[in-house]
Amino acid sequence: MSQLAILPVRNARITAGYKNAAYFKGMGFHHFGIDMTDKDRIHFNLAAPFDLEIIAFGNDRLMGNTIIARSTGLVDIHYGPKKGSQKLVLRMAHLGVIGNKVKVGAKFKRGDYLGQYGSTGKYGGARHLHVELDADIRWPLYSPTLSGHSNIWKAGSDTTINPMDCFKVDGHQSLWYSRNSGDWLDVSADATTLNHDRMAVIAKPYL
Ligand SMILES: [Zn+2]
Repeated sequence: MSQLAILPVRNARITAGYKNAAYFKGMGFHHFGIDMTDKDRIHFNLAAPFDLEIIAFGNDRLMGNTIIARSTGLVDIHYGPKKGSQKLVLRMAHLGVIGNKVKVGAKFKRGDYLGQYGSTGKYGGARHLHVELDADIRWPLYSPTLSGHSNIWKAGSDTTINPMDCFKVDGHQSLWYSRNSGDWLDVSADATTLNHDRMAVIAKPYL
């Protein structure tokens, strides 16, 4: 039995999509994750999207305050090439606060507080969470986002999945997308998922 993930931000507003072409044109590098904020950009808390164990954390000079974790059990992936259930690696960047219970080896349950998103790191920009999910759990620190090693994140090959093929909207959550992000996201791929009854949830535009 695999676990149904939740959104790491309770009322999540997607601002940039996975492997988005306009993002690549604008930023000059590919986007191997999803960017999100709180709908009203006033609640910054981050929840563990599934039961997990901390692999690494701290301040990365490129990616800012970072938490890298591995699921402790199988997680449901409802869409895409990795559809099924498997263990996953979670990488979160640009955090403003890393929760004080976050230590290497510490275990968290789905929904537990991990910290707050922020704008730390070279590409932190406006406060947001950058989140990646990796289907290869053997090399948690290695991400295709980097072209060279940093102090925590390392440059690796692409075994990522679209986080929104895994993150789902539980009964206390809601899903939105930034109308101002224009073509930096594809609503059908980046802002559409399921709830915990496996019914489709399509994000609504907001600000
Ligand atoms: Zn990002």
